Amino acid sequence: QSPLRMTVGDNLRRKPPHIAIVPSSGMGHLTPFLRLAAMLASRGCTITLITANPTVSAAESTHISAFFSAHPRINRLEFEIIPYSPPIPPPTTLSSSNSKQLIAPFESETIHALNNGRVLSCLPPVHPIGPLDPYELEKGPRLPWLDDQSVGSVVYISFGSKTAMSKDQIRELANGLEISRCAFLWVLKTRKVDTDDNEELQEVLEESFLERTKNRGIVVKEWVKQEEILAHPAIGGFVSHCGWNSVTEAARHGVPVLAWPQVGDQRANAEVVERAGLGVWVREWGWGVERLVRGEEIGEKVRVMMSDRELRSRAREVGEEARTAWGVNGSSEKALMGVIDGLKT
Ligand code: UDP
Ligand code: UDP
Repeated sequence: QSPLRMTVGDNLRRKPPHIAIVPSSGMGHLTPFLRLAAMLASRGCTITLITANPTVSAAESTHISAFFSAHPRINRLEFEIIPYSPPIPPPTTLSSSNSKQLIAPFESETIHALNNGRVLSCLPPVHPIGPLDPYELEKGPRLPWLDDQSVGSVVYISFGSKTAMSKDQIRELANGLEISRCAFLWVLKTRKVDTDDNEELQEVLEESFLERTKNRGIVVKEWVKQEEILAHPAIGGFVSHCGWNSVTEAARHGVPVLAWPQVGDQRANAEVVERAGLGVWVREWGWGVERLVRGEEIGEKVRVMMSDRELRSRAREVGEEARTAWGVNGSSEKALMGVIDGLKT
């Protein structure tokens, strides 16, 4: 029975569904699935979350344990992974994580094509329910250093949970941040998997850089609460690899993005950023390790992004659209309730 043809009474009598949720490995998959699990559970659904065991990173196991402690009503099933030694990896991976969650207005053409059989006639419907709400544990205390910075003055730099840059590129990025003269908060990763990331900051960055910038910037190697950072009024721009979660989080908070895609679907995501008016993509910077981007170029683009008032106001509008989509009667909330209603028994 179509949810549209049901009466309100019918709808109230029917039972909310039991939904199994199976995130793929990696924080970029786990985060949106935990958010979705919490959102569906808070709307009356019974949820079974099936997580892979062992996890790849320490961040995944920490977040999974904390999530289940905070959500005792969500059922847990573990999917045991058989040990596997991969063959030599290909140079790049292709992926299209845009299906994880979709920005409602900022991809309507794509959704229309998918849902109207223009791509394949047998596809199940795609529901545009993003940007997703962070779950309670992601909301942390205020960030003292950020609290002391003026509004819109800090550039936030992060390449997600699994992208490590070369030592040379890290050095150029440090140079660039210094040249930009902007205040910065930089989440630095030197290895793909966090448990291998054992180097101290001083081993990766020159002491003199840390000394010279100590009053202007912060470099961290630990996991941060990115949503909290993007929500902070001091943040005026985001240098991002354009993982899909990062893109939707920047959109949600209306933070301008300087797109620097590295692998997989990030180039397509950078295009979405640009088309939505959320940011700029410097195509000359190339793809992943294709070329070393010099500090002077980085510094210049960061400075321009941080002082571009027009970009800032367009990004703010994107944030407002995201909030409207998520508000009462917004398109995302309606889509999510439509999914739940359609699954009621
Ligand atoms: N993230 C975070 N703190 C960190 C690093 C990452 O909260 O220190 C979160 C970020 O907010 C996003 C996810 O991890 O939700 C990364 O996903 P994304 O799709 O942006 O990139 P990926 O890590 O999959 O390349
Ligand atoms: N995929 C598949 N079968 C599987 C698992 C994955 O066809 O059993 C495909 C999926 O359709 C998608 C890709 O593999 O095209 C995984 O990309 P995604 O962005 O979801 O993951 P990532 O590569 O970013 O970790």
